[in-house]
Amino acid sequence: MIAEKTYLIPTTINEAIELAKANLGAFKYLAGGTDIMVNRFQGNEDTPCLIDITKINELKGVSKEGDYLRIGALEILEELKFKKEIVEEFPLLIEAALSVGAPLIRKTATIGGNVLCENRCLFYNQSEWWRESAGFCLKCEGDVCIATKGKKVCYSELVSDTAPALIAMDAVIELTDIEKTSRVKLESIYTGDGVTPRNLSETAILTAILLPLNREFKTDFYKLRERESLEFTSLTCAVAVDKNGKLKIALSGVDPKAVVVEGTVNDNKTGVIKKALKGARAIENDMYSRKYRREMISVYINRSFEKLKI
Ligand SMILES: Cc1cc2nc3c(=O)[nH]c(=O)nc-3n(C[C@H](O)[C@H](O)[C@H](O)COP(=O)(O)OP(=O)(O)OC[C@H]3O[C@@H](n4cnc5c(N)ncnc54)[C@H](O)[C@@H]3O)c2cc1C
Ligand code: SF4
Repeated sequence: MIAEKTYLIPTTINEAIELAKANLGAFKYLAGGTDIMVNRFQGNEDTPCLIDITKINELKGVSKEGDYLRIGALEILEELKFKKEIVEEFPLLIEAALSVGAPLIRKTATIGGNVLCENRCLFYNQSEWWRESAGFCLKCEGDVCIATKGKKVCYSELVSDTAPALIAMDAVIELTDIEKTSRVKLESIYTGDGVTPRNLSETAILTAILLPLNREFKTDFYKLRERESLEFTSLTCAVAVDKNGKLKIALSGVDPKAVVVEGTVNDNKTGVIKKALKGARAIENDMYSRKYRREMISVYINRSFEKLKI
């Protein structure tokens, strides 16, 4: 039975998945709500049923688990800085989390919601009336991309700031779905297609994010945005080098998926930057131009190379 204008509040993961199964095609999970509720307000999201997962205690907490630090999907962005284990080994994650929005947003927003937040585009994140007058695009049931003036591909951008930081440190995510729990690398869930930016099953719940312990990461982080006080990213760049010299760079804000470059500290630096630029298919759908954002990719990565003495 499809729910109509229903707000459900499960207290266990199993219960949430059962409710999801009963409302297939007509529900969304709700965590902090700072992304999904804005999309609903703008008419970009209208599923009749919301399944509020915030009362599920299994999704909370930070603890060591084997070789990983396990961070529950419901952990609040502003509170990560109070978790000793994160402060000690993964300060990059704190820097990224504290760059999200403004304090009021971060006090409600969860880390799970952050890596799953909806892709954005200057021509999509507008009121319904604005979009109707400009013409609906591929991402809102139109038939062409407005930003590219007619392409049949959507390049709305991944804007999560914690995703690049987590990916640079080789984060794995845990997903619980109907009858199974699996773990995958965070970057593997992003498809590169702006209309359907993630490949998760509708009923899957992101239960936790796991970061590898004892890798002794040296890291750097930059975020390009118009106002430091409150703004989505136009380019987020996270760089991590582990104790064995493994180098990983991850970008958001310049492609529908996370742009990821992996190598070692001995790799040719120009080659590394070229790979990042090749992955970043940024188009003219941001407050900053494509040219400027791509130039800033080189600037930020070079800055990180200098700072980390690579
Ligand atoms: C003014 C403003 C500024 C912002 N600035 C930034 C910014 O600078 N950087 C940035 O990254 N974001 C920004 N955001 C977006 C948003 O606040 C964050 O991405 C936030 O972390 C989303 O988390 P949430 O818990 O509120 O997610 P929600 O809105 O609750 O959910 C987001 C999506 O994830 C799904 N979801 C959430 N949790 C789970 C789960 N555990 N399992 C399965 N599905 C789940 C929901 O169904 C939904 O599709 C901003 C938002 C606003 C309103
Ligand atoms: S990139 Fe094109 S199709 Fe995608 S949201 Fe923007 S205008 Fe729409």
